[in-house]
Amino acid sequence: MIRTRFAPSPTGHLHVGNVRSAFFAWLFARSQQGKFIIRIEDTDQERSKPEYTDLLLNDMEWLGLDWDEGPRVGGDYGPYLQTERGDTYAIYTQKLLESGHAFKCYCSAEELTAERELAEAESRPPHYSGRCRSLTEEQQKALEAEGREPVIRFKVYEEDTLLKDMIKGDIVFPKGMVGDFVIVRANGIPVYNYAVVIDDLTMKITHVLRADEHLSNTVRQQMIYKALNEPEPRFGHMALVLGEDRQKLSKRHGATSIEEFRRLGYLPEALCNALVLLGWSSPTAEEIMPISTMIEQFDINRVSASPSVFDFKRLNWISKHYIADTDLDRIVDLCIPYLLEKSYDLSDKTYLKSIIAVIRGNCEHLSQVTDYVDYFFTEDYTVDTEIKELLATEEAQQVVASFKKALEAETRVIDKDVYKDLTTIVKEETGLGGKKLFMPIRGALTGKAHGPEMFLVLPILGKDRAVKRLSLLG
Ligand code: GLU
Repeated sequence: MIRTRFAPSPTGHLHVGNVRSAFFAWLFARSQQGKFIIRIEDTDQERSKPEYTDLLLNDMEWLGLDWDEGPRVGGDYGPYLQTERGDTYAIYTQKLLESGHAFKCYCSAEELTAERELAEAESRPPHYSGRCRSLTEEQQKALEAEGREPVIRFKVYEEDTLLKDMIKGDIVFPKGMVGDFVIVRANGIPVYNYAVVIDDLTMKITHVLRADEHLSNTVRQQMIYKALNEPEPRFGHMALVLGEDRQKLSKRHGATSIEEFRRLGYLPEALCNALVLLGWSSPTAEEIMPISTMIEQFDINRVSASPSVFDFKRLNWISKHYIADTDLDRIVDLCIPYLLEKSYDLSDKTYLKSIIAVIRGNCEHLSQVTDYVDYFFTEDYTVDTEIKELLATEEAQQVVASFKKALEAETRVIDKDVYKDLTTIVKEETGLGGKKLFMPIRGALTGKAHGPEMFLVLPILGKDRAVKRLSLLG
């Protein structure tokens, strides 16, 4: 049974980079009928905050990335928070000390700095010198008597390490690349590189999918598996997500945290769809697809080893598609908070729904809804400069006056056909057509140069309100 995991550190919001790793691990598990586990890596006590754990779990839930084991759901291999797993780490630390693969190191920070500076001056790699590797028990006691508190270091293998990466292919880490590294701090708390191995091992993780910035950690982790005489999981390292300028994606490029995307009114499925295209492509070359299709088609062999670019335009294109295609009631509910911010009267739900139905096609994300609806809710709507200028012309005023007259005389319920008939009358009366005909009508009724088809807008505005607006001009 395949078991993958997402192991975030609760030090900030979930963002495009780390959620992409989580999503691919999730897709891999779901496509193989495996299990997806969440583990919280909170051993960095200064930077970790419990509230971030909550936020990132909320974000995962919002995205629909459910987990089979982990916080909130439990499981057979818990606890799923590293700070609660101290006893398990202690057992393995003892094993490594007893087998001679780890040792207590009493060097002070000053001594280590001095050593590092010397190594640099002599153009040697700034690795730990090995000074405490073979201390006798008496020597250790003497150092402890000086009040020194030891860290525990791992004794690295002096050999090349081969990684058979599922995404990057074979990578050889040359011997001497890393020096004896700390696995447990003086305060007894293990460091990431150590805790991650013990956790992946004891949680029976079979596949580790994560960002390739962890490659230099992987070699350390492989050595620990070897020392414990345990098989390592399969690793797959995903290349970075870049911004359009090909620099690592960051806040500079725009919204990057899931929280921001949610606030902007992107649908979670649209975001997942954009995420899956970051380094994976469908064999059928489709770009827009439901999660069920992604699960069906996901193949780790199709994950690219090169960086991918997070393209906001593509996200918006995808998002527009989902907004237009999703159940209208859901879209209406999601729009309400943005409209309430403008204090619009939303008491008439049928009216609200008819408005959202005609304008949703314009929205790339739902917070934009307020850009398209003011003329439905207030007479104090904004008028584009272009429209102000247009409506000051004699030709436009003729169109408006003619349209007003035809509308006033109209006795039928206003619908698409009636609107067409009215414009035909205006066309005949003024001799104008195309943009010269339609732009003044749109401008006079909505204040906007662009928007949904007027044959959809007019029936919602209704005859009386439309006549009033035309009267102000005509
Ligand atoms: N806590 C690590 C991070 O957030 C996890 C790395 C891993 O997946 O092993 O970067």
